[in-house]
Amino acid sequence: MFDWLVVGAGFAGATLAERLASVRGEKVLVIDRRDHIAGNAYDELDAAGILIHRYGPHIFHTNSAAVFEHLSQFTRWRAYEHRVLARVADGMLVPMPINRTTVNRLHGLSLTTEDEVEAFFSAQAEPVPEIRTSEDVVVSRVGRKLYETFFRGYTRKQWGLDPSELDRSVTSRVPTRADNDDRYFTDTHQFMPADGYTAMFRKMLDHPNITVMTGTDFAAVKDKIPYRRMVWTGPVDEYFGFRFGKLPYRSLVFQHETLDQEWFQPVGTVNYPGEDVPFTRVSEYKHLTGQVHPKTSVTYEFPSAEGDPYYPVPRPENAALYKQYEALADATEDVWFVGRLATYRYYNMDQVVAQALATFRRIEAALPSGDGQ
Ligand code: FAD
Repeated sequence: MFDWLVVGAGFAGATLAERLASVRGEKVLVIDRRDHIAGNAYDELDAAGILIHRYGPHIFHTNSAAVFEHLSQFTRWRAYEHRVLARVADGMLVPMPINRTTVNRLHGLSLTTEDEVEAFFSAQAEPVPEIRTSEDVVVSRVGRKLYETFFRGYTRKQWGLDPSELDRSVTSRVPTRADNDDRYFTDTHQFMPADGYTAMFRKMLDHPNITVMTGTDFAAVKDKIPYRRMVWTGPVDEYFGFRFGKLPYRSLVFQHETLDQEWFQPVGTVNYPGEDVPFTRVSEYKHLTGQVHPKTSVTYEFPSAEGDPYYPVPRPENAALYKQYEALADATEDVWFVGRLATYRYYNMDQVVAQALATFRRIEAALPSGDGQ
């Protein structure tokens, strides 16, 4: 008899399994239907011996000292600040998010102060009476030309929808800067796990109270393995048999390639906002990991309607559908729903760890240790 069945060995499941096992001393079974731990953050050596991320590039960044300290128990870190360039017309590479360099290079200007750049954005911006869509967010801030160069094609490829049909939250995530800061993230902690994500997860799950079974779907074991309580980090609609319908997701196809050259591109990720190519971005792992190798490995991302669920589609009708499942989840005793799939949100890794640690505090409050269970 296990005290807990944890479904999913990603950040949500592994964080909770570790807390339940080491703080409460409870017996935990972690299962994952994939043949590995670490969820979408899984990394592995490819055939050339280069560390790659099977599900696309994952860069750890957070403003939460608590999350950073928590994970630091399981890994050493390599300082890494991610930089992204966008490939625009004529193959020109310019910084993303848009900053002063982007504006100067693209328009042949030589603006030198933040005030000048803000004045440029204001002159380009179009008044929008009510900001509802992703298009409204960008056009009202930097105008139609920058919107068309960087956002329209990229968003149409990424989501299969025009930005005018998408909730404002999609492009609100991408800042626009008047200074020369060319870092993709500005969080206080920006690091990569020194030995990779999978090694960090192995340490998290390496506890005598934790048993891990990969290649194991919940459906295959639910009636066979006795457990008292459950942490569910899979899709919430799947848990309830899709009874209100399927929650829509956007997916990606990853094309991994190893090239017989030391470097492929100048930074970790190059975005391709144009609709002349079907992929959205190319990432080169050695920039992220610091690995030294005579060859290099890259991943192309092709957005797709079919495949693993990656990005919840942010439209009001989907939020309403999720609310129906959330009400069921809230009313389900002895099951805690945690993580990006169980709460139908696009969450970064640090947000999932924070959510899992908050869930652990709720479990502690609801089930004081030694409650006889
Ligand atoms: P997951 O990692 O998806 O883990 C859930 C696990 O549950 C999966 O392994 C799945 O196989 C398993 N599962 C589901 N259903 C079942 C079932 N019925 N039975 C058994 N197992 C089941 N975040 C960042 O902070 N920085 C980044 O740079 C970044 N880049 C990203 C790039 C891409 C392309 C994507 C898609 C996401 C990125 N993220 C990034 C987000 C990051 O992947 C998530 O925050 C994180 O993986 C969420 O962890 P999780 O445990 O909630 O979900």
